[in-house]
Amino acid sequence: MRIVVLAGGIGGARFLRGLKLAAPDADITVIGNTGDDIHLFGLKVCPDLDTVMYTLGGGINEEQGWGRTGESFTVKEELAAYGVGPEWFGLGDRDFATHIVRTQMLAAGFPLSAVTEALCERWKPGVRLLPMSDDRVETHVAVDIDGERKAVHFQEYWVKLRASVDAQAVVPVGAEQAKPAPGVLEAIAAADVILFPPSNPVVSVGTILSVPGIREAIAEAGVPVVGLSPIVGDAPVRGMADKVLAAVGVESSAAAVAEHYGSGLLDGWLVDTVDAGVVERVESAGIRCRAVPLMMTDPEVGTAAADMARAALQLAEEVRTA
Ligand code: GDP
Ligand code: CA
Repeated sequence: MRIVVLAGGIGGARFLRGLKLAAPDADITVIGNTGDDIHLFGLKVCPDLDTVMYTLGGGINEEQGWGRTGESFTVKEELAAYGVGPEWFGLGDRDFATHIVRTQMLAAGFPLSAVTEALCERWKPGVRLLPMSDDRVETHVAVDIDGERKAVHFQEYWVKLRASVDAQAVVPVGAEQAKPAPGVLEAIAAADVILFPPSNPVVSVGTILSVPGIREAIAEAGVPVVGLSPIVGDAPVRGMADKVLAAVGVESSAAAVAEHYGSGLLDGWLVDTVDAGVVERVESAGIRCRAVPLMMTDPEVGTAAADMARAALQLAEEVRTA
């Protein structure tokens, strides 16, 4: 079975760990969000690709859900001693090595997809990890600060401001000109199932879908497309997804997110059991819906995530035979 998954960071990575347990023989291609990428200290940082790579490769800081395990922050402290920031982005010493290797390879002329493949030779994530695009796409968020409209980098909005001000708009800068990375459209066309993990619908999955050609390829693939809600009981399980959903005019609920993707894209949708009351609403939008436990409570073992993945594959099978 060939499975394609559109993934952001934590939600995507933890789900993928479960998917690997649920479908050990499947050929899994992950299309990773690169709209979160940022240049810091002259280095190219790809937070979502790295979260997937470290989580599946056994190098993730489990409590945080991002960054390396056993991390130290000597380089960051030394930079701060020079007055060189930003201090609000947590880059550890081990993590720095990844960004140095990546930046060096990019400077030597390798595209991000080739660099990601090279980094994965060390981490062996057990999936094929592709960036959504080799072209630079950077998510910016429009905010009003002191009565003035300003666009800030997504990381500044998320990490520095902690989404404490309302997002007025979310713009994947560069997406319109971006091309899907080599292998992306081919993987979608060859897929038996396409999954949207419980990743952020706006700044993770939404950004991937904003690369011209990807949304169309998924809609035209002719295979079941099944998603899992990152919103449980009308709130994000972690993070501030409600803020970016509001910016695109979508209420923070499992049903509204399904309707936002729409039946043109989505065939099946899983909501948490606490949201069982919305199953009918989602189905009336033309999307087959089931309520199952959607909390990845045991990230280390991944069994809850594996059950979720099984439920998603089962729903895909129902769609296929319907
Ligand atoms: P990010 O790039 O690190 O923000 O990660 P993603 O975009 O992949 O995932 C973020 C989303 O995952 C958030 O909107 C969370 O609500 C959701 N999420 C995190 N943990 C869980 C979980 O255990 N269950 C569900 N259903 N969603 C989760
Ligand atoms: Ca992210």
